[in-house]
Amino acid sequence: MDLTLNSAVMGVELSGIRQFTMLAKSTPGACLLTIGEPDLNTPDIVKNAAKKALDDNDTHYPPGNGYPYMLQAICDFEAKRHNLHYNPDEVILTIGATEGLFTTLFAILNPGDEVIIPTPAFSLYESITQLCRGVPVALPTEKNHFQISKEALEAAITPKTKAIILTSPNNPTGCIYTKETLKGIHEVLKDKPIFVMCDEVYREFVYTDNFKCFSDYQDMHDRIIVIQSFSKPYAMTGWRVGYLLADAKLRDRIQIMHQYDVVSAPSFYQPACTAALASDTTAAREIYRGRKEYVYDRLIKMGLDVQEPEGAFYMFINIEKFGMDSLTFCTRMLKEGLVGLVPGCYFGTEGYMRLSYCYSDADLKEGLDRIEKFIKSL
Ligand code: PLP
Repeated sequence: MDLTLNSAVMGVELSGIRQFTMLAKSTPGACLLTIGEPDLNTPDIVKNAAKKALDDNDTHYPPGNGYPYMLQAICDFEAKRHNLHYNPDEVILTIGATEGLFTTLFAILNPGDEVIIPTPAFSLYESITQLCRGVPVALPTEKNHFQISKEALEAAITPKTKAIILTSPNNPTGCIYTKETLKGIHEVLKDKPIFVMCDEVYREFVYTDNFKCFSDYQDMHDRIIVIQSFSKPYAMTGWRVGYLLADAKLRDRIQIMHQYDVVSAPSFYQPACTAALASDTTAAREIYRGRKEYVYDRLIKMGLDVQEPEGAFYMFINIEKFGMDSLTFCTRMLKEGLVGLVPGCYFGTEGYMRLSYCYSDADLKEGLDRIEKFIKSL
């Protein structure tokens, strides 16, 4: 029978990163540095809180946006840790940052509205924008040390621009936006009817004291949406839980989508998430900082061109000098050198590959030895 499906769904493919990772995983003997998730485990204090909640039969429908104590814990955490001030009626506990991104874009976009996505970027932004019938507009940053210039931003804005997504620290570059960059973005956007979605899922993994987020510009409180996640800081990727922060009036509309799509985040997670917010992430951050220094040093000694990251757990390595597109390069490196990195094309930027250092010291050493051997063989 000739049945048609939603054209937006038909227009989007499965994640290229996942497909490449599957290829890498099925390559016998390959050492993978592809995955963007902590190799550490969820802290016991968090797991125990969920176990206790189950034993206490906290297994019924919770309030749609989260239990009041959960929303308050998020507000307290953001105020204390980041000096970011939101009220409980400005929070939604979501199914990971991914639902936060989807729910927000669905709530704010009309068909044909444009979303500016500085590239390289987390590939979900483009797909989710298309699924919400918006139009992704890439704003390339690789020629500007992965910073957004005022001129480039102004040139990307049209009467159809509805939102911009800012990711700092960034996936895949690990770079953070400088204060000058943020000031420039603020000057361009402060009087414009454009939403600013601040994806801050790597905010706990910053390796400099000189860090500021765009969400700090609270004069734009009515247009800023902060997207957060428990996945990375507390090694909780499989739990699928995050939150978003938005001005109460806007949050009230975003919650419509959230309630009809997922109803709520799971009830018995919420004591666990509260315990996570109260836990100390310093030890994890220091582990990643040590790995970053080791990996950066090795890549530079190999003669590779990479900008030293100041956050997250990725490095975006320039491979233009090898004269191959990133998919060809990474596929050859996987097959011939038995080491897997993610091609830059999956982040919207050719000529690069992403290394994740969410791996043990031994795996990182092995992976880097193999990269070195492979590039010497070219
Ligand atoms: N935002 C960025 C920048 C990410 O890198 C990721 C995951 O890799 C997400 C959002 C999704 O996070 P979650 O696991 O909370 O859905």
